[in-house]
Amino acid sequence: MEEKKLTAREIIESYDGPKLRIMEVCGTHTHEIFRLGIRSLLPENVELISGPGCPVCVTPVGFIDMALQLALEKECVICTFGDLIRVPGSEMSLADARAKGAVVKIVYTATDALDYAKENPDKQVVFLSVGFETTTPGSCLAVKKAKEEGVQNFSILTANKTMPNAYQALKGSADAFLYPGHVNAITGEDDCRKLAEEGVSGVIAGFTAKELLTALAVTIRKCQQGEPFFVNCYPRVVTEKGNIPSKKIIEEIMEPCDSIWRGLGNISMSGLKLREEYAAFDAQRKFDIPETEGTPNPGCRCGEVLQGKCKPADCPLFGKVCTPLHPVGACMVSNEGSCSAYYQYQM
Ligand code: SF4
Repeated sequence: MEEKKLTAREIIESYDGPKLRIMEVCGTHTHEIFRLGIRSLLPENVELISGPGCPVCVTPVGFIDMALQLALEKECVICTFGDLIRVPGSEMSLADARAKGAVVKIVYTATDALDYAKENPDKQVVFLSVGFETTTPGSCLAVKKAKEEGVQNFSILTANKTMPNAYQALKGSADAFLYPGHVNAITGEDDCRKLAEEGVSGVIAGFTAKELLTALAVTIRKCQQGEPFFVNCYPRVVTEKGNIPSKKIIEEIMEPCDSIWRGLGNISMSGLKLREEYAAFDAQRKFDIPETEGTPNPGCRCGEVLQGKCKPADCPLFGKVCTPLHPVGACMVSNEGSCSAYYQYQM
């Protein structure tokens, strides 16, 4: 008799093998999995842990401190994505600095910041360039355009990051990764294939209920086979080579560098900085801002949350001192942050 084919949901719900730890790297996955009620389908022996895929969350305190120096001491206009404005630095956030008279503007793209610079030639405008391969091309395009047009009052402060070396740093913290489909839409499949060859397993996942259930079911089935694996479960968006024009513009304007991740520390060649020919647009060099380590709130456990070593609710400040309205750490600020997701769906 032909064996009955199980649906993705049935594969997940019926799993009764050894304990599996699956890390959803991307904050949007964390939120969607909560929002769609997928956690309630998981058997006890499948644990989902949240990883470091929220760009705001992994941006270190020192970066906020450098942005504060630019705003308060160098009197630059800071242009930033909205979430970053509430992330606490060592002593204050950019929102606090704004209350003290600093000019901090929320923009939606780096090009908005460039346009503002062109409209205000008497002001020095700095765009805070954070994020992964998804947002980095936008910063690169703005810098390229600024150079071509000879705009001299525009620069960027970079904390751009790339994922492959972060997966290496997280090796062993989960049985498999749910790779962030939107990042892989740019980078393609190659990095993930290489990781599988090095013993790191994972599947590229989309964001709908069907895509997430499929990705989880494939992960469970592949884990049962016991060999390192990679599967692209988001082929309608992620191609083998990714978005080549985006990769080209990154390659043209930026180069790899070591980078500090909140919680994960310094990961070799996991960041991007402007190439020498674009040094005039590097705010840190332009305004001679020293590299700053910063001091996170000692009670905040964002670092452990981002490594999957503890759950947000294990933090003693969670939901008490630290809430989305009054965030103590970065993971409670951003919509993509794990603490924010747990607060929204589990409180
Ligand atoms: S609940 Fe707040 S203080 Fe605790 S780890 Fe999360 S962001 Fe940090």
